[in-house]
Order: sequence, then C-alpha cells, then structure tokens
Amino acid sequence: MSAAATGTRVVRGACPHDCPDTCALLVSVEDGVVTGVTGDPDHPFTAGALCPKVHDYERRVNSPDRILHPMRRVGPKGDGRFERITWDDALDEIAGRFEQIAAEHGPEAILPYSYLGSLGAVNGLAVGDPFFHRLGATVSERTFCASGASTGYLMTVGPTIGIDPESFVHSRFVLIWACNVVSTNIHMWKFIAEAQRRGAKVVVIDPVRSRTAKRADVHVAIRPGTDGALALGMAHVIVRDGLVDEDYVARHTVGFDDLRERLAEYPPERVAEITGVPAAQIEGLAREYATAQPAAIRLGVAIERHASGGQAVRAITSLPALTGAWRHVGGGILQATPYAFPLNVPGLHRPDWIRPGTRVLSQWKLGAALTGELELDPPIKALFVYNANPAVVVPDQAKTLAGLAREDLFTVVGEQFVTDTARYADIVLPNTTQAEQLDLMFSWGQTYITLNLPAVEPRGEAVSNREMFARLARRMGFEDEQFSMSDEQLLREVAFDWSHPHLEDITFDSLRETGWAKLRIPPPDAHAPHADGNFPTPSGKVELRSSIAEQAGDFVIPMFREGLDERQPGTPVDPLPAWSPPAEAPDERFPLSLLSPKAHGFLNSTYGNADRQLRLMRARQQVILHPDDAAARGITDGQTVRVVSAQGELAAQAQVSEDVAPGVVVCPMGYWRDSSPDGATVNAVTPNRFADLGHAPTFSDARVEVVAGA
Ligand code: SF4
Repeated sequence: MSAAATGTRVVRGACPHDCPDTCALLVSVEDGVVTGVTGDPDHPFTAGALCPKVHDYERRVNSPDRILHPMRRVGPKGDGRFERITWDDALDEIAGRFEQIAAEHGPEAILPYSYLGSLGAVNGLAVGDPFFHRLGATVSERTFCASGASTGYLMTVGPTIGIDPESFVHSRFVLIWACNVVSTNIHMWKFIAEAQRRGAKVVVIDPVRSRTAKRADVHVAIRPGTDGALALGMAHVIVRDGLVDEDYVARHTVGFDDLRERLAEYPPERVAEITGVPAAQIEGLAREYATAQPAAIRLGVAIERHASGGQAVRAITSLPALTGAWRHVGGGILQATPYAFPLNVPGLHRPDWIRPGTRVLSQWKLGAALTGELELDPPIKALFVYNANPAVVVPDQAKTLAGLAREDLFTVVGEQFVTDTARYADIVLPNTTQAEQLDLMFSWGQTYITLNLPAVEPRGEAVSNREMFARLARRMGFEDEQFSMSDEQLLREVAFDWSHPHLEDITFDSLRETGWAKLRIPPPDAHAPHADGNFPTPSGKVELRSSIAEQAGDFVIPMFREGLDERQPGTPVDPLPAWSPPAEAPDERFPLSLLSPKAHGFLNSTYGNADRQLRLMRARQQVILHPDDAAARGITDGQTVRVVSAQGELAAQAQVSEDVAPGVVVCPMGYWRDSSPDGATVNAVTPNRFADLGHAPTFSDARVEVVAGA
C-alpha cells in the first residue's frame, strides 16, 4: 500500500503508545491527509474501539503545533524560541559538538535519554542505542516502569505470559491488583466484564476508588505501599486453613517450607494493622480466592513504586501456585505479555557495541546527574532526548530543570511537538507520528503482533527516529550496515526471530495483508500454560524461594539496561517474599501519602498539550483529596493549593472526593508545566530513591502536606 496514493483509502495501523492494549488501527486517508482513525472491528482485542486518548489521533498528525523542520534555539534555554535550519546544518552542528565533547571529555560525557514515546520495534525504546554504543556514550538505564515488577515476577515464575488476557472470561474470581484497567488497559475490561456477567466475582485492590473499582463487586481500599503484606496475609490464611493445593505445590514449586515459616509473621490481625484492611475481610478474601477456581489475578505495574514493591510482586505471584490456580484455563496471573514475542533485542539495541567498562546511569537520576550532585567524571556535557519528556516525568523536577538550563549543556531533542523538554533544546529535530512511519508492534498486554503501515507521507521534513539516527551516524562516519538498513529491512531481517514457533506461518508479508495476527499459542479457551508446571525458571518450578535472588541478588533485565556496570553489582535480596514499611514514614510535617497514577486522558505525558484530552483532565494539574482532609485544612473543591514534600512543591487545583481514602492524596501524572500556576508538576514532589528490585522508581512512596492557598 503506497503512502503516496491519492483518493480515499483505509490503511492498517497500530497504536504506538506505551499501553498494554496495542490497538489495531484503521487510518482513513483522503488526498494524502489523515482524516480519521478508528479501531479495527475485526481485531479480537481492540474490537473497533479506541480509548479517549487516541480516538482522534488525526488531530495529532495534522496539528498546527507539530515540529516540521529542524530548529536551532534563539532565546534563553526554556523559552522555547527557535529558528528553522536545514537538516544539513542540524547534523553538522550535532556531529561537530559531539566530536568536540568526545575529544575534550571522552564520549561518556554524552548521555542518551529515551523511553517509550513509541513502543515500535524499530522506532521505539532504544532505537538510538546502536548509534550511542558506537559513539561510546554513557549507557542509559531505563527503569521507569515495570522493571521492578518484572524482576519480582521473573524471580518467581520466569518469563511466562501467564494467563492470556482473553482467557479471563473463563475465570470465576478476578482479583485486579493495583491496576486501573478501565483507564489504562481499557480493552481488557470487556473480558473481565464478560467473566462478571457469567457470574465471576471481581475484586479490586487499590488505595483509590478508581473507575475500575467502581465497576467491581468489591473494592478493597488498601493503604499505599502495603500490598506485599496483604498478599502474605492471604497466603497465611490459605496455609493455615488447609486451602493449599498440596499436590501442585509438591510437584511444581520450590521453597514452600521456607515460605510457610515466613508466613507465620503475617497473621491477619497484624496485616490488618499494616494495610488498613479489616482482618475479617482479609480472611474472607483469602478463602474466596483459594476456593473459587479458576481464579485470576491482573497485576498492575504501579505496585512496584514503593520501597518493597518488588517483593510485593513476589508475594502476589506466589498465590496462584499455592492454590493450584494455574491448573485451569483462566487461572493464574497476568503481569505482562512481552515474553511471548520473539523480539530480537540484542540485534536491535547492539549491546555488543558497548565498550567494556562504559558507565551506566539511571535515567531517573537525571537531575542529580546534570546538576553535578552525582559528581560524575566526566560530567554530562551533551544530552540527546527522544521518545521521552524528562522535564515532566522524572523525579526531582526542580533539579532536572536546573540541569536542562545549564548553558554549557548541549541538548538535542527529537520530537513531534515542543514539549517542556524540547523548550530547553539547542537543536530540535522533527519526528514522524505513527501515521507517517512503518513499524511492527509487540504488546505487553495482549498476544497479537500488529503491523503499522505508513498512511501518509511525513509532514514537512519529519523523519522517523530510526532515520534520524541513521542520518546522524552517517554524518559521523559510522559505516556499519545497521545504519544503512531501511525500516522494512530491519523488520524483515533483524527485529524478530521469524522462525520462532509463536510466529509460525506469520511473516512480514502476511502481516501486510492481515495487519495483525494472534501469536501461535493455544487459543484462549485452551490456554493453561502451567497446568503441568513447566515454569521458565532455573528449577522449572515456581520459586517461592528464589534461586536467582540467592545467587545473583537484584538485577535489571536487559530490556531496561544493557551493559554491565562493575561498580553496581546486584545487591543482596531476601530470597523469600517479604514486606517492609514504605521508606517515607508519616510525620507531622508530611502526614499525607501521595500517589501519582497514570491519567485517564494522557498517555504518560503524551497529550498533555492536547486541548480535548486536557479538558478531560480539567485542564489544570489536579490534587484529589478526601473531604475530611480537605476540611481539616480549610480547602474547598476547585481551590488552588500547594502540595509540599521534602523534595519540593507544586501548585495544583484541589478536587475534593471520597474516591480517595483519608490520608491519601492523588496527583495524576502527565500534565505539562503550563497546567500548573508555578510551572511544577507532580514530579516536583516525588522522591528519587530506588525500590527494592530492578532499580524501580518509588514515585508512590512519598509523603506530602497540602496547604490552602497558592
Ligand atoms: S493508548 Fe492503548 S487503549 Fe488507547 S488506542 Fe492506544 S493501545 Fe488502544
């Protein structure tokens, strides 16, 4: 299908966003212009509907605010004033500055920064890695999301997709744990709703009465950061009351005796004190979960964002093994599905090009790195940002902005819009939207591979991320074949292991015809991957006592960080699931617990500049607090207030609601800086400590006070 064709036509696409649903799109094009985007009605997961973030994606493609040409800064950093330059000028300037910095300070003075602004195989997470590895730049550690949850999950059951989300219709008991499915995984809801219609009980565990909690049969309003204790309390009851599937545990787990000893520390009465969930409710929940087979758990990523978030994932992931839930179709746990896709990460990211000993730097310590707090040698002298908006999404926002404002920092940003980060760039490069590029999408929340065809020619001089780095590599004289391969060549020859059984009979060419294909795994009504064990762990069993934790300690999986940093060996990890208190204890100064979940209207910070999505989010940075907490502080709905923590503060609009429990406040993430009167967003007040596993962030292990008045 040619992107240059004229007349009205429909082109198959795939949503590019960091979202578990990975919707199949139908893009309408008239005379070379995208006129509408809908979901593919034939796609079993998308089923014709798109979420409120994306259903008018044509506005994003056609927006008058798009960056269409390379630009150079003409005003002070942060002002966002630029002049148009040619691609040649931009490439010359970037290559020249990089060469100069590498000569004066060494190439590690150059830091790449990217995340999942696009999830595509060739334009996604780390498309710049081959270029930066060839250059010898500092290696970026990208543990923003799912790193801790994934590490805990892998330690327990290995890289398994677990329950196919479509198999949830067969579940009799659905436990949605720390996941606002209706806002962040909306297409999964119909499978859960179908189970509910067939008689399944749906329970949501979440400190917030989210849109999902309102549709559940039961909402368990747990205290933030105590999920691990609740899971261990449930396991205590299951063991104490003889509800363990002894045969399954004997044949398919290791470490049960050790775990049983550990569980003695978590009687319901103690767990009630920790979690705020009444002991009787803990007992009832455990018994119902253990007896209503098949029982399914949908585990959200947010759970990792506390001091012991990784161990909480280990505790929850142990539950289906204790009860034998894995025996059944629709039983077990769903954390994430990327393990089903034979993506060739080393071929795409080229970790073999990393020079031995190259340092590794956590991206979410960016503020500390740029302001000198980390005392890096060499210091960071150049920053290249793509697929990301760190001015908004990184903790320690004030420090990040101070670092970005450094006059001696040479910053390049590849973007579609002038984001809060791009405003600080010396050079801005124009990037294509999904409708203007080719890519192939894996998914972390379902089991379809989806091709995205370019629907229209790129607007202006925009290029894909892959082409942007290919141009820069050629300008710097890198002659490796990878930099001369087209998107299609990379997809055909590098991006996937096309011989993998999950892709049997699926080819790049077949996807050009069908757009998407279900991976070759058993169908949802027969998918019980661990009915007979066969877990992809070192022992082949569920590791209630983790051999990986014992032997290797903490680690970061290669998707999030490549290369080895000899100065950061894996720290020791308790091989048994455990709970420890949040790092930030309540005190008189900061008595409220802060959560900063993903927003209903934004996709991380994408769409924070889009009028319709902003209106959906009330246009201004919100802080939601309980009526009792509001009354105690003389705060009324709609008032401008200050949210203050040990890290910083922001001005926000108060929203008074019983949807949050007393003692908890919620600041949705993703707003851009002009949504707040003081130019600060929620990451002005979040901490930047690592959680216990996978160098995960602790965004939700934060204590604040809310003060009336701007
Ligand atoms: S953001 Fe998620 S739910 Fe929305 S269209 Fe994209 S994949 Fe679908």
